[in-house]
Amino acid sequence: MNNCLLCESLLDEKLTFCDLLNLKKPKAKACDACFEKFQRISAQHCPKCYRDGIDEICIDCDVWTKKGKEVCHKSCFVYNEAMKDFFSQYKFQGDYALSSVFTEVLHQELKNYSDYTLVPIPVSVEKYQARGFNQVTAFLECTKLKFKEILEKYKIVPDFVPNEYLVDKLAEEVVKYTDENDNILIVTSDISPCDTDKYNSLYKRNYEKVVAYNTKKLKVDRKKVHETLKDVDIITFLSSSTVEAFYESLDGDFFILGDKKIASIGPMTSETIRRLGMKVDYEAEKYTADGLLDVIFK
Ligand SMILES: [Zn+2]
Ligand SMILES: [Zn+2]
Repeated sequence: MNNCLLCESLLDEKLTFCDLLNLKKPKAKACDACFEKFQRISAQHCPKCYRDGIDEICIDCDVWTKKGKEVCHKSCFVYNEAMKDFFSQYKFQGDYALSSVFTEVLHQELKNYSDYTLVPIPVSVEKYQARGFNQVTAFLECTKLKFKEILEKYKIVPDFVPNEYLVDKLAEEVVKYTDENDNILIVTSDISPCDTDKYNSLYKRNYEKVVAYNTKKLKVDRKKVHETLKDVDIITFLSSSTVEAFYESLDGDFFILGDKKIASIGPMTSETIRRLGMKVDYEAEKYTADGLLDVIFK
């Protein structure tokens, strides 16, 4: 007997004769009641991005198309409360076991792409270290389908990973592997503190920065922040952008922080915490989630 991964109730696993014949069919990992909370995208959706509830191409896709960018997404579920809860548990608490909840659905959907190469989206070193796994890869592993890591697909193996996960360190360390006047491209996010002018003059190389993704802040209702913080003693921040989002969600109400302790993953994050008028009680020595726990429990 197995338990539902989401609510822990016992799963009703009566095998039918068809199930016995079809041994490869993955078993359900969540009970019907939990699974029904996830809402499938209906037949009525934007044909380009799968936005639910409309018949034609949505405004966003229309804008992208006019800019010459073709949108071609396929989605299975609506991002509703149940899905939000699932992902916060899955991604942020690093619960690898949860990766099998959608195996059956994924298997079904990906069957139609048997002559494609499946390439999961890579996660950052920081996130990988914090979580211990790539959540997209973990989903695919459960389906037992063959897939390729994107870097491996392009035959990319990192020559080095800086000891400290800071762009400043990356820029500094790359000096050991390059010569003067070499061109160095840093692929990063829109909020990265990547100062190419500084690096150019410091290290005599041509650093250039390319923004590959934008960070999106999530503003949480202040009431919900209060509710969540009620039973919290230590607030941990794993990036500057989360500090900023948290700050905006507080809406100027620092009172709620009371004597709660604040923990930061590294110097950049601490700087943001202080800049926004909060104090830092713990700062990780090794800039990973584990490193942060180490200083808290020291
Ligand atoms: Zn359940
Ligand atoms: Zn659309």
